[in-house]
Amino acid sequence: MKSDTCAACDYKLDADRISVKIGGKTVEVCCEACATKVREAYAANVGKQGKSSDAARVGGN
Ligand SMILES: [Zn+2]
Repeated sequence: MKSDTCAACDYKLDADRISVKIGGKTVEVCCEACATKVREAYAANVGKQGKSSDAARVGGN
């Protein structure tokens, strides 16, 4: 499956795309801010599944 849009915001990807490896698969995003977004979304999902208690505490401040 070919993906030509950002995994976070659906912006069309160009040569500046960034590959982010999360949970054993690679997704492509348009910028560093979106890379952070998909990483945080993945961490939140892992926390919900109870596989990592540390991830669930991220952002607790
Ligand atoms: Zn994006």
